[in-house]
Amino acid sequence: MKKYDIGIDLGGTKVLCALIDKNDKEKKVLFEIKKKTKKEKGNKKVTAKLLEALDELFEISNIKKEEVDSIGLAVAGQIERTSGTVIDACNLNLKNLEIKKILEEKYLIKTNVFNDVEAAAIGELVLGAGKNHNNILCVFIGTGIGSSLIINKKIYHGASGSAGEIGHIIVDLNGRSCSCGGVGCLEAYASRSAIESRIQGAIKKGRKSIITELTQAQHISTKYIKQALDAHDEVTSQYVNEAIEYLSGGLASAMNFFNPELIILGGGLIQGIDEIYLKTVKLAKAKALKTASEKTEFKKAQLGDYSGVIGATLTEEYNNVF
Ligand SMILES: [Zn+2]
Repeated sequence: MKKYDIGIDLGGTKVLCALIDKNDKEKKVLFEIKKKTKKEKGNKKVTAKLLEALDELFEISNIKKEEVDSIGLAVAGQIERTSGTVIDACNLNLKNLEIKKILEEKYLIKTNVFNDVEAAAIGELVLGAGKNHNNILCVFIGTGIGSSLIINKKIYHGASGSAGEIGHIIVDLNGRSCSCGGVGCLEAYASRSAIESRIQGAIKKGRKSIITELTQAQHISTKYIKQALDAHDEVTSQYVNEAIEYLSGGLASAMNFFNPELIILGGGLIQGIDEIYLKTVKLAKAKALKTASEKTEFKKAQLGDYSGVIGATLTEEYNNVF
């Protein structure tokens, strides 16, 4: 009997595989395997890591392949949904990886592949902050900025799948270059990596910051940004506030354009630093048109690390149409 589903979240730093009871409405994770993917790059190495994690999940849970109804795989990258191919995932250095085919051939389990942000958005829609809502904008702010639009409880993809990319709306015509190749995108101003490069630039120019002591030349993670803010570090708070100004401006534009019932904010920077969430919401509401901000509610994402794996098991059902 097919009693289970497997959800997988494959991101730039980790792969998380979770076994979920198919009939549990709350989609509680029964068993999970988490592995770091930081050093594994490229089609071959990432696939090997993924298969290793899945084999371990079967081993620790003592479940047979025949008992699993479907695998939902969420990948941080561009996906061709019909063939289940990862066209491009720059954080993992994947190119044209036919991962659906590989998994179906090995495990003989029906597999669907999705983008990680859309899976997380569906997770939040069905079981998290988006329950009882129809039209939602989900924005995840971490290393980059990912987002997804939900219209009438379905993901809206647009003509070629890029709908809802708020991270790449242009906030400065003559501005910083963005990872997408464009210029002046919101992601280059309001993501954690944007804050990191601004702080590093100031330190290089001779400004003093507690960040130097805290990080010991490692990269400036959300944890260190929070510690520096708590210590009232001037440089950190200047660039965090700058990021909040841009982020709230971007969200206000999205509110005016899309007029959603609900905006769900998630991702490391939002989950890790309450001050960023609260200030962003307040400013976005103040900057948007009154008619838009009156009806738009804000909530924090609620499923945390599990939004991707849970969403991946549900996404087929809530996937598009447009
Ligand atoms: Zn961009």
